[in-house]
Amino acid sequence: MIYMNPFAAAPAISQQLTDAQRIVILTHVSPDGDAIGSMLAVYHALQALGKDVHALASSDLPNYARWLPGVDNVTVYEIGMHFPEADLVVMVDTATLSRIGPIYDEAAQTLVQLPIVIVDHHVTNNGHGTVDFIDATAASTCEMLFQLFSAMELPITPDIATCLLLGLTTDTQSFQTSSTRAESLHVAAELLKHGADQERVTKEVYYTLPASSAALIGHALYGLHVDGPIAWTTVTQEMMRDTQAEDEAGDEVVRMMQRIAGVKALVLFKERFDGTTKISLRSQPAFNVAALAQEWGGGGHSQAAGATLHMPPSEALEKILPQLRALVGVTE
Ligand code: 5GP
Ligand code: MN
Repeated sequence: MIYMNPFAAAPAISQQLTDAQRIVILTHVSPDGDAIGSMLAVYHALQALGKDVHALASSDLPNYARWLPGVDNVTVYEIGMHFPEADLVVMVDTATLSRIGPIYDEAAQTLVQLPIVIVDHHVTNNGHGTVDFIDATAASTCEMLFQLFSAMELPITPDIATCLLLGLTTDTQSFQTSSTRAESLHVAAELLKHGADQERVTKEVYYTLPASSAALIGHALYGLHVDGPIAWTTVTQEMMRDTQAEDEAGDEVVRMMQRIAGVKALVLFKERFDGTTKISLRSQPAFNVAALAQEWGGGGHSQAAGATLHMPPSEALEKILPQLRALVGVTE
């Protein structure tokens, strides 16, 4: 059942929680601030309800989230790890089960037999959970969780408020994205009232850039191409090795590219260690990159989407650039 409204979703989700004691929280691979903020906020809320909770991340947490209240309770899944005994899965900020990566690859049999509650704001989410609260107009899953917890009359502690504020801050890039709505600002105000540590969130998100990320930005922007309204660059494995940068550094490259005047759509090609290429797409509001990402088996939001192409960056470039040019109306 798919609900778009927190008040409609609240009774159904409460019922699922009442029926379960052992609950596993999952989110997407390469988790971002919204993913981890959501995961931990749900963790705190379920703990307060007396549940046995497992927060299981599919891959490493970004640096800027490693200080959040309760973060030591997040287990980072490793290949071959036993999937915890569970009565219920809560999946946050994740459009499809396959987006949870290695956990899905190894525990799909178990997962498909468990009831799943999904809370997500991806436009590409089809709502395949048992109970789905999906609102593609929300700027972040964290903002939806604030609404949901309020509708369920769950107490919003300062720890929960801090976790939610981190996700709201990162997914809106501090209320700059076109997805930012009045409700996002309203929720932010409420989170501050509930004791969110905004000073720490801002410091960790914007002013603790690892030096290795700064070095990677340098390498990547040296190879930047801007051709009329489109921009692109590549991050290779060699660059990752040379700079010792962590995965999240690529996001910083994207953010720098977004600041270039006149760019309507951009793509970062990131070479993975297995030879595949991760693309990160961003666009101005008139252009929908989620549809383009979906053509390659990916997804996301209309202004921020991604996919994995099973080919090296040089080939991915030849496939994606013509599509991106077509999207923004450049004829070759
Ligand atoms: P990013 O470029 O920052 O990795 O991702 C931008 C948005 O697209 C995020 O909301 C992310 O969840 C989504 N996204 C990125 N890669 C994929 C993918 O391979 N599949 C799907 N379904 N969504 C993706
Ligand atoms: Mn999100």
